[in-house]
Amino acid sequence: MHQEVVMSLAHSAQYQVYWDAIQRRACGVCLDAADDGSCGLPIRHTCALPSELPAIIEAILQVKSDRMDDYVTAIEAAVCARCPEQDGEGRCGRRDRADCGLYTYLPLVVDAIEEVKGGLACR
Ligand code: SF4
Ligand code: SF4
Repeated sequence: MHQEVVMSLAHSAQYQVYWDAIQRRACGVCLDAADDGSCGLPIRHTCALPSELPAIIEAILQVKSDRMDDYVTAIEAAVCARCPEQDGEGRCGRRDRADCGLYTYLPLVVDAIEEVKGGLACR
């Protein structure tokens, strides 16, 4: 599925506010972003951030910890465990090459989701 299509699917109203924050923080510094701020990955090269957005948000919202390791563990269980890039022994070449937007920018993704959560709680 083309990246733009994947991203449009991720843009359901329920998750839009989270996606906007993630785009600002993570895509804003991603080397694969296009000049206009959209994702510049080529066709057939997907990023787990938009394609697994609901699972990512749900996993991060369930973690209450100051340790990034706890968020990494939650993402590995909720996303990496069923990602086709990971082999049966838990290895992922894209993770090792820093070629996965989700994994590479996870601290920024966590910040974005926690920021939105905090804003929603204040309403
Ligand atoms: S983080 Fe993922 S969705 Fe965002 S620009 Fe980079 S590759 Fe594309
Ligand atoms: S780190 Fe690897 S297994 Fe995990 S989401 Fe990214 S590409 Fe998939």
